[in-house]
Amino acid sequence: MEESVRNCSYCGAQTVTPYRCSGCGSYFCRQHRLPEQHDCVAIRKPTREKPSPRRGGLARLLAKVAVFLVALGAALYLLDMFGVVDLQDLVEYIQGFVAEFT
Ligand SMILES: [Zn+2]
Ligand SMILES: [Zn+2]
Repeated sequence: MEESVRNCSYCGAQTVTPYRCSGCGSYFCRQHRLPEQHDCVAIRKPTREKPSPRRGGLARLLAKVAVFLVALGAALYLLDMFGVVDLQDLVEYIQGFVAEFT
């Protein structure tokens, strides 16, 4: 039986049976397979709304970046530990993250 192990594009969890989102094409774990669970670009409003100047916007962005860095560090650590560094997956993961801000 063929098994494809991937990292969830949302939380980075290693998933043996990943779900591929038909909206954005990324792979996700069971918990984040639904578009609304991984903040899918497919369900975003097509018109770019101006972000309301709410307080905490920057903090949320920083928190997101921090989570990403921690996840990336953990992923790199795990990959290095198991000696299964998959650069392609890593690049895809980073691209998916960057796409959120472009
Ligand atoms: Zn996940
Ligand atoms: Zn999606």
